[in-house]
Amino acid sequence: MQGVRSKAWASWVVWSVGVVSALADAALEERAGRFLGLVNAGYQALYRVESEAQWKASTDVRPEHDAGSEVAGKARAAFNGNPAILREARELLARRRELPEIQVRQLERCLLNAAEGPMTNPDLVARRIAAETAQASALNGFQFRLGGSNVVANDLDRILARSTRLEERRLAWEASKATGPRLRPGLEKLRDLRNACAREMGYSNYFALQVAAYGMTADEMVALNESFMRDLRPLYLQLHTWAKHELARRFGQPVPNRIPAHWVNNRWAQEWGGMADAAGMDRYFEGRDPAWITRTAEEFYVGMGFPKLPPTFWTRSDLFPARPGEARLKNSHASCWHVDLENDIRSLMSVEPNAWWFTTAHHELGHAYYFMAYTRPEVPPLLRIGANPAFHEGIGELIGLASGQIPYLKAKGILPKDDMPDEVAVLLNDALTHAVPFLFWASGTMTHWEADVYAGELPPGEWNVRWWRHVADYQGVEPPGGVGSRGEEWCDAATKTHINDNPCYYYSYAIATVLKFQFNDHIARTFLKQPPQSCNYEGNREAGEFLRRMLSVGGTRDWRVLLRETTGEDLSTRAMVEYFKPLQGWLAKQNKGRKIGWE
Ligand code: ASP
Ligand code: ZN
Repeated sequence: MQGVRSKAWASWVVWSVGVVSALADAALEERAGRFLGLVNAGYQALYRVESEAQWKASTDVRPEHDAGSEVAGKARAAFNGNPAILREARELLARRRELPEIQVRQLERCLLNAAEGPMTNPDLVARRIAAETAQASALNGFQFRLGGSNVVANDLDRILARSTRLEERRLAWEASKATGPRLRPGLEKLRDLRNACAREMGYSNYFALQVAAYGMTADEMVALNESFMRDLRPLYLQLHTWAKHELARRFGQPVPNRIPAHWVNNRWAQEWGGMADAAGMDRYFEGRDPAWITRTAEEFYVGMGFPKLPPTFWTRSDLFPARPGEARLKNSHASCWHVDLENDIRSLMSVEPNAWWFTTAHHELGHAYYFMAYTRPEVPPLLRIGANPAFHEGIGELIGLASGQIPYLKAKGILPKDDMPDEVAVLLNDALTHAVPFLFWASGTMTHWEADVYAGELPPGEWNVRWWRHVADYQGVEPPGGVGSRGEEWCDAATKTHINDNPCYYYSYAIATVLKFQFNDHIARTFLKQPPQSCNYEGNREAGEFLRRMLSVGGTRDWRVLLRETTGEDLSTRAMVEYFKPLQGWLAKQNKGRKIGWE
């Protein structure tokens, strides 16, 4: 339609039709503008109120904070899901061709936001918000116990990271799974309520609703994740084989077929850190002030030309574990919050001085710098989001990857200058800790289980068996007691934060993993002129400018177009596969004569 105004038509008839429809355009655009002005203002104000309330409830679990969060959630839904807003957004979208892209994208956002709490069915929404609040409280306020004492998640992680005693590891692993039965009833209720909200808005289920943020269907998303696994499978099988031999040697056990879950350093076997001894990075972080970790992460971004974090980041964030004896339970999963969709940016972490938290702090600040980049008048509050959720995760992932590069760590003085880490060990550590097993967990177990539960409506009586089937098939991992040892009295999926409070989102991390290698490949080759596997971003303003431009767009453009424009390539595992090429050959040599895989 825009063409009508810009082309010079010869015939006056066509010309006059053009004038009429141009006027209609202008009127429609003005109507949409007025409507969106109102929606943006209400959305932003209530976003802030709800974030503040949820922040309190997540950093200090108490009934009064839960109550505040529930009320704020209802206020948000009363506005975002208001039938009058829905009606107008739909009417305007019916004439989307006559509107500019930025308005269309905001209107689509209105519908996605409304689907989280459609007030065409207020009773349903009230029940969902109450159930969400109760679940968050049960999750955040859970008291882990080990050997008769109260412990926090970091304590369990420390045992899984360090202990060589399998019995101790098994107890820590089991302690970490105690949340499942507590969270299960709430999750059952939420599955149905979330699906019902999505259906109220015409989506077939909640998984389909979340995937709509990518402009994709549920089937397309599952297929995309399967294609990632297909591309990385040869490498994963080699890594898996190498890892199980290495772990069996370490624990003095026969080589298993699948890897027992408590042999791995992570409660879900999602990351396999600490196996590549030569790369053992923790020693460089031990004894440091935990505050230094987040400050150093900020320096990374500032060095690339980004501004400093707003001063309130440091006064309002909650960066460290609750002190022993402090009567406060807080969420243990790292996150970053854009509280007011302006400059109130906070992070919730439990930083300790080790390599894992070093990477995680860089990841969280990736979100913070994304928030800062798109907080500008040209990006309306409704579109202060990533190009898609995976872009938001991918930036932090990218900087996490960059902050672990040896040339950077040396330049920064974190690694002694004369240290000569084994290049293969570093690559192996990269693959195990931040990339390959993670992809099979994210694309495999998490994505498939949630697709089964939400889109496939898997009956709750089959949840745990299905969970472990996916873990076995995709990850090649099994529970400590062997296949079949985790019956339906457990709900091991619910021990994962996102299953409770960020549902049907996890494929975003898989896509983010693929994206981070694409971004890194592009930056290393184009701006740093260094190998992607061994490069230093420090102080590179060109790379910073590349990122800043991409981030400042927020949700105003289609992610596929943006990706192609910035990197010259569509979403692809090419860069990830190439990154690990040197490792593949080394692994094949180590695994010579071994049975590969677990089938
Ligand atoms: N690293 C991801 C996150 O920030 C995924 C995870 O921790 O499971 O949430
Ligand atoms: Zn994140």
